[in-house]
Amino acid sequence: MSHTPTASPTSSECPECAGSITVTRTVIRGEVLRCGDCSAELEVTATTPLRLELAPQVQEDWGE
Ligand SMILES: [Zn+2]
Repeated sequence: MSHTPTASPTSSECPECAGSITVTRTVIRGEVLRCGDCSAELEVTATTPLRLELAPQVQEDWGE
C-alpha cells in the first residue's frame, strides 16, 4: 500500500498572458486562482492535468 499523493507542484499556463502558473497546494475543480503576472482570475476546470480558464468577470454592480 504505497499510494503516493501528488506532491510535486502543478503548473499550467495563464490563458490571458501566457505566464506560467505554479500551484503548490491542492486545488479543486471550480476554484479560482489569480495570475501573479496579469492579475486575471483563472478558474480551475480540471486538475489532472491542471487546466485553467479565465473566470467570468463579476461586475460589482448590484444596482445599489
Ligand atoms: Zn496572466
